[in-house]
Amino acid sequence: MSGNPAMVMRVVASAYTVAEKAGAIVRKVLHSGELGIVEKTGANDLQTLADRLAQQSICASLSRHFPKLTIIGEEELPAQEVPEDLIEKGQAEEILQKGCPEEFKTLKEEELVVWVDPLDGTKEYTEASRCLQLQAVAQLPHKGSDTSQTHSTALWLLDNVTVLIGIAYGGRAIAGVINQPFYNYQHGAGAALGRTIWGMLGLGAFGFQLQEVPGDRRIVTTTRSHSNKVVTDCVSAMEPHDVIRVGGAGNKIIQLVEGKASAYVFASPGCKKWDTCAPEAILHTVGGKLTDMYGNPYSYDADVKHMNSAGVLATLHNHEYYVSRVPQSVLQALRSD
Ligand code: AMP
Ligand code: MG
Ligand code: MG
Repeated sequence: MSGNPAMVMRVVASAYTVAEKAGAIVRKVLHSGELGIVEKTGANDLQTLADRLAQQSICASLSRHFPKLTIIGEEELPAQEVPEDLIEKGQAEEILQKGCPEEFKTLKEEELVVWVDPLDGTKEYTEASRCLQLQAVAQLPHKGSDTSQTHSTALWLLDNVTVLIGIAYGGRAIAGVINQPFYNYQHGAGAALGRTIWGMLGLGAFGFQLQEVPGDRRIVTTTRSHSNKVVTDCVSAMEPHDVIRVGGAGNKIIQLVEGKASAYVFASPGCKKWDTCAPEAILHTVGGKLTDMYGNPYSYDADVKHMNSAGVLATLHNHEYYVSRVPQSVLQALRSD
C-alpha cells in the first residue's frame, strides 16, 4: 500500500473489491436457479434475490469501512443485520497505489455520496435464467431438441448484467466502478468469468481498452425491455446507421467506450441516478458526456430526485449533434429536472 492513500482512493479501492464480491453473488444466485423474483412497480420492474443480497453486501461492506458515507441503493430493503459472509473487507491494492488527483486529495467521507445499483439489467438476468432452465429441461433424456439457440440467447443476455457503484462529490459523478459478472462467457466452461472496470476524473479509466466506432457511423444503443413510442421516435430522429437494443445502463456505457456504439439514447424517465452515476464517471473520465435529452447534466447530490426524468443521452463524441436531433415532441414528453 502507498504511504497514506487519500480517503477517496480508499473508498474507490473498497468499491472495486465490493463490486467483485457482488458480481460473485449475482453468479451464485443464477447458478442456484432460485431467483426469488419480486415485481416492484410492475412486470418490467423486477427485483431478485441477487439484487437484494448484492445490495446488502455492497452497502454493509462500504459502511463498515466508511461509516460517514451517504450510500443510496436502488432496492428498498428492511433494516436488518447483514450476515458476516456478505461483508467484503478487502481493498484493491492497484487502486491504493495510484496517486489521488489534487482536487480530491482532501475530500472527507461525509462529503461523498455513493449511488449503488446492485444489479443493473435485472429483466435480462431473469430472462437468461429462464432460457438456462428451458435448456436444462430440453437436455433431459428423450427431450433431445437443439438447445444451442436457447443457450446462446441466455449467455448474450447475461452480458447485459452489471453491478454499479458510483461516487459523487459536489453533485458530480467523480468515480465509478462497474463489475460485469458474466464477462468472458464466450470462452466456455473453465474460463474465468467477470471483469471490473473503473475510472476517476483526473486519473483515468482502467480495465478495458478505449475504442471508437470506426468511421462516422452512428450506431445508437437503446433499451430492449423498456421501450415506447417516444423512445423509438427519438432513436429514429438520430438517423442512425444501426440500432442495438440491449439491457442495462452499465452495459450500454461499456458499448460506448469499447467502440460498439456511438450514442446511448433513452428518451424516458425510467433510468435512475444509481443507473447513471458510475457509468457517467467512467465515460466523463475518457472524454465522453452523459446528459439529459436537453443536453443538461444531472446532479448526484444526496437530495436529488432519483429519476432521470428528462431521459439519458450519452456519447463519446459529437454530443451536440445528438442533442440537436432530439425532436420537440420528445422534449415535451419529458420534463427537465
Ligand atoms: P434498460 O436500458 O431498459 O435496461 O434500462 C436501464 C436501467 O433503467 C435499468 O436499470 C432499468 O431497470 C431502468 N429502467 C428503464 N426504464 C424503466 C422503467 N420503465 N421502469 C423501471 N426501470 C426502468
Ligand atoms: Mg439499473
Ligand atoms: Mg438494479
